[in-house]
Amino acid sequence: MLLRLRRNLSRAELDSVLALARGLGYRERFLDGGQELLQLDGRGGPDHVARFEDLSGVASILDAGDARERYQRAPGQADSVVSVGDALFGGGRVALIAGPCAVEDLERVLTIARGVRERGATVLRGGAYKPRTSPYSFQGSRERGLDMLARAKAETGLAVVTEVLDPRDIGAVSEVADILQVGSRNMSNQALLTELGRTRHPVLLKRGFAATLREFLLAAEYILAGGNAQVILCERGVRGFDPSTRNVFDVGAVAVLKRQTHLPVIVDPSHSAGRPDIVRALARAGVAAGADGVMCDVNPWPAEAHCDGHQAISFEEFASIAADSRALARLDGRTVCEATQRTESTK
Ligand code: PEP
Ligand code: MN
Repeated sequence: MLLRLRRNLSRAELDSVLALARGLGYRERFLDGGQELLQLDGRGGPDHVARFEDLSGVASILDAGDARERYQRAPGQADSVVSVGDALFGGGRVALIAGPCAVEDLERVLTIARGVRERGATVLRGGAYKPRTSPYSFQGSRERGLDMLARAKAETGLAVVTEVLDPRDIGAVSEVADILQVGSRNMSNQALLTELGRTRHPVLLKRGFAATLREFLLAAEYILAGGNAQVILCERGVRGFDPSTRNVFDVGAVAVLKRQTHLPVIVDPSHSAGRPDIVRALARAGVAAGADGVMCDVNPWPAEAHCDGHQAISFEEFASIAADSRALARLDGRTVCEATQRTESTK
């Protein structure tokens, strides 16, 4: 591990750095006469970077060496793969997630689930618990929504992703959800992340709308540090100044994340765009940048949706996204996951 110490640090600051280094079992040597570049030799741990960063004498960590945080991709390290039902995220597989923003009506949820499955989705999305900006907006159909998702899953065999807002709901939501979603507004809810670290349930962690990539990755680290290795990251756009799109889709983030972390990275072009007409273009950009999956709001009844109808796409548009994703994945030797054929006995 290589640290840059602050110039003119005090004796007490230097002593704190050396005491921590020795306490962690490192041997230290300065690489320069000015006591600025401190090389630490020894076995690194995932907590070491943050512990040194906390000390006022440390200006920056120039090289973490093997004191890597758990999210970090070691040189040459392969992708981590998260597997749920027919969907595989990472490792050269691309998985498509589709469904309504919120689950509202059983018949419609079933129709949407069948429709997106036929067109290439392997995971059904749909919020039962909704994080809404106004306390007066529709907050989701809650337990009733979970029942609808359970029915759709039993009928179609699709895996289900749905949001969990409160650590107290993790148990109930996990009974139905194959993947627990943490929404953008909750990316920094460390109590929730810590609880999810205690489960062994896959987690879809969405980027906070004003989070740097380092903050995003450290939010994932909370889950990984608890022993839950099944984390999927989702780029969903960050807040910008231009109302032309709901958020600014950060396609560069996808490419950077794929280098920095071994975790799978997917994109949500629907919440990035906030309008249906450019969802397909953003989905294409995401897969081209290396995304391991795409999650879209699909709803044939957008005018009646209580939540985000203004950005939902049709079945036909989703079918085009699936076709694009297959073509783009093929360009770099990847394949899109397909739902397994169901025989009468598995229906
Ligand atoms: C969602 O996916 O339903 C959602 C609320 O998205 P986000 O947290 O990215 O706003
Ligand atoms: Mn939404």
